[in-house]
Amino acid sequence: MPCKHIFVTGGVVSSLGKGLTSASIGMLLERRGLRVRLQKFDPYINVDPGTMSPYQHGEVYVLDDGAETDLDLGHYERFTNAPLSRDCNYTTGRIYLSVIEKERRGDYLGRTIQVIPHITDEIKGAVRKLRTDDVDVVITEIGGTVGDIEGMPFLEAIRQFSLDVGKQNCLYIHLTLIPYLKAAREAKTKPTQHSVSELRAIGIQPDILICRTEREMSKEDAEKIAQFTNVELRAVIEERDKEFSIYEVPLSLVSNKLDELIVEKLGLRARSLEIDDWRQLLHRVMHPEHEVTIAVVGKYIKHHDAYKSIYEALDHAGIALSSRVLVRKVEAEEVEREGAERVLGGIDGILVPGGFGDRGIAGKIEAIRFARERQVPYFGICLGLQTAVIEFARNVVGLEDANSTEMDGNCPHPVVCLLDEQFAITHKGGTMRLGSYPCLLTEGSHAHRAYGSLEVKERHRHRYEFNNQYRQQFAAHGMKVTGTSPDGKLVEVIELTNHPWFLAVQCHPEFKSKPIQAHPLFRGFVQAALTRREGKKKENEAARVRSATAVTPA
Ligand code: GLN
Repeated sequence: MPCKHIFVTGGVVSSLGKGLTSASIGMLLERRGLRVRLQKFDPYINVDPGTMSPYQHGEVYVLDDGAETDLDLGHYERFTNAPLSRDCNYTTGRIYLSVIEKERRGDYLGRTIQVIPHITDEIKGAVRKLRTDDVDVVITEIGGTVGDIEGMPFLEAIRQFSLDVGKQNCLYIHLTLIPYLKAAREAKTKPTQHSVSELRAIGIQPDILICRTEREMSKEDAEKIAQFTNVELRAVIEERDKEFSIYEVPLSLVSNKLDELIVEKLGLRARSLEIDDWRQLLHRVMHPEHEVTIAVVGKYIKHHDAYKSIYEALDHAGIALSSRVLVRKVEAEEVEREGAERVLGGIDGILVPGGFGDRGIAGKIEAIRFARERQVPYFGICLGLQTAVIEFARNVVGLEDANSTEMDGNCPHPVVCLLDEQFAITHKGGTMRLGSYPCLLTEGSHAHRAYGSLEVKERHRHRYEFNNQYRQQFAAHGMKVTGTSPDGKLVEVIELTNHPWFLAVQCHPEFKSKPIQAHPLFRGFVQAALTRREGKKKENEAARVRSATAVTPA
């Protein structure tokens, strides 16, 4: 069977959840026994999101091969088993960069380089890269909204693509919005009509429309949409806003028969859908037995996507432990202003995620001190390890001026600093220590117990490292290195000895957590937080009983 293609476009507005829908489609096809690949095209000019501020773009999602990608790839990885690589995320900038490099090399033999065919060929080449013998369906999501100037070359390329590989091998799915106007008490189909006519003007007739709605879509509205957009009525599919969780998306698409439609339209040989485990997962999400509150203390808290994978991974750990994890998003500077006691009192666990630069560091250090002194479970990730090291140096080891050279280039005690090989680097894009690296763990450590293994691999995205000169001094005071690179040179994990659960890692474990397979460290951390909460509850209960039974002298 030749490899088939699904192209997912979006209309009317951005943020419709195209990534989640594409991931859900991938998941449904996989669960019908098909081998899928997913990729995303982002029309902006940056070569990758690695240099973009989290405020602009949300989290940068890192792959095993070190590619810094769009956060939608996180959805792909969490929902499917499709392997991802740097071939799975292209931006306009990356496409142009490649064409311009070829032009400079003289590859085009003196021809004039144009958007059509050179840029569109480059885009089609990027789709074709995923079309290998072991793949049944390639799903390509086009970022942005139909009508955006930047998106044009991508739409033109996917239009051409069906002529290249045969119309019967391509399916165009358009995700659109049916807004409900409260004042008129009506759902409006006009924006969808316009967005599809824009697509058709480019030469793309969508095969399936997925309509995001707030309320149930009426039969009449579906008929109207079908008529005006030249799409079969049964292919006008409702995707209503979810009440509880994103895990409902694939299931609601199944109840609207999207998987059957895709299989039929592409003539795929697929087995019946196996999705019971996912239904159970959703049941567990909706009926938690316990509750636990975790504070995430970061710098980009206001942008709800800046720590996307962290929040997801906490959720996964909660699911594994039949618990609802309530996340308190704490701006690090708030801890600085208000004090840790006030902001973090009553919390069950504290997590400091990755980050860059000086702002908020003091607040993070305060939060970590609070976790260490009050025996609150602590999980530090990347900068969360580095700040834990600084806090320990200053407040336990007694190195008052300790810092990372990222924050203070001339500090007398650079407990976190640049490696020799990072010194010479001046370019910003793609020059960090990126991607998957192995790590050896110390037997009996929290990390070892959580993973159940002595050698693990995790993804990285950082420049600075724990300064080895301080290792012994730290260990003598109770902060142990419990994971290193195989040559022993790079510190990967640290733990406190006299604390119930204080662990920090230089890597980003959040990128490898899945809803059905919670990451062991997140699970260990949330378990520790649950244990603390239970302990506190018992203490309070005992105190209540004591005061109730205390005999008050007359
Ligand atoms: N800024 C730190 C470094 O570059 C930490 C990076 C991160 O948290 N991802 O090493």
